[in-house]
Amino acid sequence: MQPTIIAVGELLVEFVSHQKGCELHTLAEYSGPYPSGAPAICIDQAARVGAVTQIFGGLGADNFGNALIERLQSNGVNTSGIARFDNKTTGVAFVSYYNDGSRTFIFHLNNTAADALKDTSSTLPPGPLLMHISGSSLGNPNLRAAIEQTAAEVISRGGELSCDPNARPELMSNPDVKATLAGLISKSSYLFPSESDLSYLYPGESPQEVITNLLKKGTKIIALTRGEQGSRIYSNNKDPLELPGHTVDEVDPTGAGDCFCGTFLAMIAKGESLEKSARYANAAGALAVTERGPMEGNSNLPVIESFMESNPAKTLSSGKIQNLSEH
Ligand code: ATP
Ligand code: MG
Repeated sequence: MQPTIIAVGELLVEFVSHQKGCELHTLAEYSGPYPSGAPAICIDQAARVGAVTQIFGGLGADNFGNALIERLQSNGVNTSGIARFDNKTTGVAFVSYYNDGSRTFIFHLNNTAADALKDTSSTLPPGPLLMHISGSSLGNPNLRAAIEQTAAEVISRGGELSCDPNARPELMSNPDVKATLAGLISKSSYLFPSESDLSYLYPGESPQEVITNLLKKGTKIIALTRGEQGSRIYSNNKDPLELPGHTVDEVDPTGAGDCFCGTFLAMIAKGESLEKSARYANAAGALAVTERGPMEGNSNLPVIESFMESNPAKTLSSGKIQNLSEH
């Protein structure tokens, strides 16, 4: 039986500035409301790729909330775990990019419906569970508590955890956040770090050392996400799998990591091989950056397959995996 992929966390709408470098400070035009929130992007993509999915979070009884519910439902996500609050507004984020691709966010999350979520562990669906956790949710105390409770319940029921650390220093000034994230990472079967996540979380250790240690301690699969360079997949049983990036025009990189995770987990949940799951995730991540809006570039299997055919990943100059420290 396929596990249900679940996520608990922030549901938001996002507004994206059209003008690079406006820093959310000078006047600019914006597009939105785009359905967003890292857990929502991942779960939406997993549903589009054909997994059984459910999301837990909070929304206001407003049209931003309606936009999110409608998007998730239309792509097949079970939204019965989303609470609606009459007296709270839906969470909102604003993002502006710089010319070098970096970005600045303003989040309206605290005291909105997005963080009004209570313990969800008693309302989990029956059957096997695979819970995905985004580190971006853990900076908020209410979400952190709900995620920890739900993760404990998933584990007690024999389910598995997956974690995208998204370790942003600005979200982790409170030491409890880093400690919770480290605890969840140690219990996860699937990890989706970037090199910067690893350097931030494990200072003084090379990414290669961290990966080796995590695999020794029981992590099943580590997918290192590398932006336009693609991804590398590590597991105990096999040599690492190097997946070069597909060449695309990057319009909006936000959400690529979440889309990668959603694709990968959905393929694994459906019983696909590690290599096929990784190739599809690598392609879906590339597709994700081609549309403005965090989940506008999410895709389904036919779209991913035709993209892989028309736009094969770059070939490597050598068949060998480069040492991580060479980057
Ligand atoms: P975020 O946290 O903003 O969602 P991330 O840092 O977790 O992003 P990235 O490494 O940026 O994740 O992207 C995830 C995956 O998507 C990459 O490993 C790669 O497969 C694909 N990808 C992202 N950006 C590009 C790009 N410009 N060109 C090709 N593939 C890309
Ligand atoms: Mg990430």
